[in-house]
Amino acid sequence: MADIIQLLPDHVANQIAAGEVVQRPASVVKELLENAIDAGATTIKLIIKDAGKTLVQVIDDGKGMSATDARLSFERHATSKIRNAEDLFQLQTKGFRGEALASIAAIAHVELKTKQDGDDIGTVIEIEGSKVVNQEVIVTPTGTSISVKNLFFNIPARRNFLKSNNVELRHVLDEFHRVALAHPGLTFAMYNNGSETFNLPSSNYRQRIVNIFGTRTNEKLVPVEEDTEVLKISGFVGKPEFAKKARNEQYFFVNDRFIKSAYLNHAINAAFDGLLKSGTHPIYFLKLTVDPQSIDINIHPTKTEIKFDDEHTLYALLRSAVKHSLGQFNIAPVLDFDR
Ligand code: ADP
Ligand code: MG
Repeated sequence: MADIIQLLPDHVANQIAAGEVVQRPASVVKELLENAIDAGATTIKLIIKDAGKTLVQVIDDGKGMSATDARLSFERHATSKIRNAEDLFQLQTKGFRGEALASIAAIAHVELKTKQDGDDIGTVIEIEGSKVVNQEVIVTPTGTSISVKNLFFNIPARRNFLKSNNVELRHVLDEFHRVALAHPGLTFAMYNNGSETFNLPSSNYRQRIVNIFGTRTNEKLVPVEEDTEVLKISGFVGKPEFAKKARNEQYFFVNDRFIKSAYLNHAINAAFDGLLKSGTHPIYFLKLTVDPQSIDINIHPTKTEIKFDDEHTLYALLRSAVKHSLGQFNIAPVLDFDR
């Protein structure tokens, strides 16, 4: 019998990986913003056109890349962030899988401009469907600019599957909000079809929430603070009367990473027990800090779900911290903008 198994060429493997990592323009936005943060940027600019379908560009003032690294960054499993499997449980970075840029470059036209601090000149690389079509030196500021154009240009089925610009823009904004909320100390700007959508100066957490969701949000927020051996909680829940029919202002961040957790959401609902009109959901913006050893982030390619070693304890701590804050606010409302 003939042998029939073959190793897939890299560009095919990249395209398959892209199916997991890149669902829509918002996925590109998430990966590029996270890379900018991992690069130590303090100012990050997001530019999109047609809800990201024709352009997603992220410009950062982070540490940039050498010419060699710029080229390598588009290889699959190419990462500067981990060296071995143990590092997965000490993560200080958003990225670690080394597959975002390889995936994105497999299904779009990508232009990367980058320069490291101290270098006189930088590098520009253009890639189309995993093929490098140009690499030269270029005069460019320190940091990195990545433009991702014509998403899914080579996969018509995926391109046609994209939703209307309104819907795709909604997803882009969701990702932008999540990253901007996770990092209130960084400066963000966003431009959509040439006009400024957001201009978020470096601020504290309360101010960042208000800058994104509007000044009226300020009076809705009740601080939640808790510091125990296994869990630190910091952030806000909305007063019960501001609970909403939609669940779109519910944010958990674990070690500065936005995550979804039906289980922890349940803990919040339990804390609000008896305080909510039926069919409404409390708003919350909660940052949880745990030992990186006690979580596994590598259970899903988009990293929005994580596994906790001891979720029962977290549940109990979260519920009691929120309950405590709600109880306090009934006696003395806290409206201190500076906290
Ligand atoms: P990961 O983030 O998981 O390492 P990526 O494919 O997103 O994988 O990026 C690959 C590598 O390219 C990163 O590990 C990093 O070294 C480099 N890189 C990507 N984006 C930037 C950026 N904006 N600034 C500096 N380096 C970057
Ligand atoms: Mg990355």
